[in-house]
Amino acid sequence: MMDNINLLTRQDVIAGVAERWREQYPAGISHDRDKIYERLVAEKPSTVEAVKAIIDNDSWTILECDVCDERRDAVVMFDNRTTEHGTRICQDCLSAGMRELAE
Ligand SMILES: [Zn+2]
Repeated sequence: MMDNINLLTRQDVIAGVAERWREQYPAGISHDRDKIYERLVAEKPSTVEAVKAIIDNDSWTILECDVCDERRDAVVMFDNRTTEHGTRICQDCLSAGMRELAE
């Protein structure tokens, strides 16, 4: 597998919530947001429900395909220079793309 093409699962997204939270809300800008970060680090939530219990919504656990915009449990992430967070494509869309290539 190439370095810039990787599987990304919803579990990976959940595992990365604390880090992404810190990127979006740097230390010291809000006491409440710092508290949430501390809980994310201390409790290491591993389920959607556990994240929701801390942040109060599940938006930080959502994984969507960039082509069909559907919520998915897994996508392939293509890192590239044009998008900061890479392009995420689900199995259905990848399969459709492969059919196009095969024609
Ligand atoms: Zn898709």
